[in-house]
Amino acid sequence: MENIADNVRRLLEDIPRHVSVVAAAKTRSPSEVSQAVEAGICIIGENFIQEASRAMELVDGDTCWHFIGHLQRNKVGKAVKLFDMIETVDSAALAVAIDKHCLSLNKVMPLLVEVNIAAEPQKYGVLPQDTASLIKKISNLANLRMIGLMTMGPQCTNPDDLIPHFREARRLFEEIDALCIKDVEMKYLSMGMSDSYRQAITAGANMVRIGSAIFGPRR
Ligand SMILES: *Cc1c(COP(=O)(O)O)cnc(C)c1O
Repeated sequence: MENIADNVRRLLEDIPRHVSVVAAAKTRSPSEVSQAVEAGICIIGENFIQEASRAMELVDGDTCWHFIGHLQRNKVGKAVKLFDMIETVDSAALAVAIDKHCLSLNKVMPLLVEVNIAAEPQKYGVLPQDTASLIKKISNLANLRMIGLMTMGPQCTNPDDLIPHFREARRLFEEIDALCIKDVEMKYLSMGMSDSYRQAITAGANMVRIGSAIFGPRR
């Protein structure tokens, strides 16, 4: 049996305080998520709407819920209702849809833009060179709050191979910050997972998304 509480405590000791830890909960039961929250996790990352709404009913505590999966257009209404942040916006059309649902629910949604940092084909996320212009468009939408970037990085067997990509994401993050776009705050850079969070933090991540190092190997 995986000791989720021990894993969380070890991680929170290892990770500097300025870095927010998102527990990536896909495929985990609400009881597993609850154990992580009791051990000190404050932010839960969910990839699936259905799984998230079930977990939200059952997990107690003052917890923030981030959507970290690919958001399909027909699920936007539900996502807006349920989540406190959406980390995976990668098109103006998706942002417009989120804004519209926020307006009808009288809600302002904090967003990160997902960047396809290595410009991999078939991967979600906006290309690095298109990121600033997407963020400018999003900044004009009244019910959205643009607060940073998220990236996955390529699959690598050696997590050190991700370092150049993480550095590139940090560079882009700072470049966009320097543009001082009205109503945009470059506050969070969400990158790094169980095998790569140390590399990501060294490169400048201040939000990491961690699944298996908390919950054990994925089933
Ligand atoms: C699953 C997932 C993670 C965490 O992955 P682990 O390798 O289990 O830490 C992080 N981010 C996203 C978007 C995920 O889907």
